[in-house]
Amino acid sequence: MARPRTKRRKPDPIKAWVKRLDRTRPGLVIYVLDQLSGFYDRPTWERRWDPTSELVLTILTQNSADTNAERAYLELRKAYPADGLPQVHSPGPGWGGTGLPDGATPDWLQVEQVPLEELIEVIRPGGLPVAKAKGIQAALRFIREQRGDHSLEFLGEMPALDARDWLTQIPGVGKKTASVMLLFCFGLPLMPVDRHVERVSRRVGLLPKETAHTDPHDVFLAMLRPDQMYEAHVNLIRHGRRVCHAQRPEHERCPLRDRCRFVNPKAI
Ligand code: SF4
Repeated sequence: MARPRTKRRKPDPIKAWVKRLDRTRPGLVIYVLDQLSGFYDRPTWERRWDPTSELVLTILTQNSADTNAERAYLELRKAYPADGLPQVHSPGPGWGGTGLPDGATPDWLQVEQVPLEELIEVIRPGGLPVAKAKGIQAALRFIREQRGDHSLEFLGEMPALDARDWLTQIPGVGKKTASVMLLFCFGLPLMPVDRHVERVSRRVGLLPKETAHTDPHDVFLAMLRPDQMYEAHVNLIRHGRRVCHAQRPEHERCPLRDRCRFVNPKAI
C-alpha cells in the first residue's frame, strides 16, 4: 500500500541564507566587525536620551539630517518647556548630530495636544514638518492612551522582540525606528537597519540581493549574536557615512576591500 505523501516544509529563506553564508564565506561577520572596529573603534553602549525623546528624535530624523532633527527637538523644548531632571544628552557614537545642550525633556502632554498647525510651525526647521508633526502627536497619543502617561521606561523590562512589537503598533513606527529606540535606550539586542547599514552590507555581501525579498532586520537578527548588534549597527553606519558612500565609495582606503563583493564578485 502506498504511503500517504507528507508535505515537505519550505525552508526558511533567512535561515538558509545565514547557513549558506557561513558555508561559502566563513567568518565574514567577524571579519567585517573586526576590520571596522580596527578602522574606527569598538563602540561601547551608553544611554543617550530618555526613551520618549529618543522615539521623537528618531521620528524627526526620518528623511532629514540628524542636525536638523536636533534643531527641531530644541525648538520643541523651547516652545513647550517642562520642569524636570535634565536628560542624558551624550550624542553617542552612531548619532550624526552634534549633541544637545543640557535641559529637560519637552512637556509631552503639551506637544501631543497643541493644534497641529502650531506644532508644524515649531518643528519646521527639521524638515517635512507636516508628516512629522502628525506622526509625533499620533505616537504620543497612542502611548498615553495605552499607558496613562508618556513614559516608555517599561519597555526596558520586556524581551526585545515583545518590546519591538509593542512599539510597532504605533502608527508610523516601523522596525527600524523601534529598534533604534530600544537598542540605544536599553541596549536591547536589536539591529536597526538604515540606508547606510543596508548599502554597506549588501555591497560586502552580508545581506542577500534585494530580490530575495527578505527583511534585512530579520536577516541580521539571525546572523549576529546579541552582543554584536550595537557594534555592528554603529560601525556600519559610520562606514556608510564616511567611506562607502552611495556615490563614489572610497574602495582604496576601505578596510573591507579584500572581501567585498562589490569590488570583486568572487570574493570569499
Ligand atoms: S570596498 Fe568599496 S563598496 Fe566595498 S565596502 Fe568598501 S567602500 Fe564599500
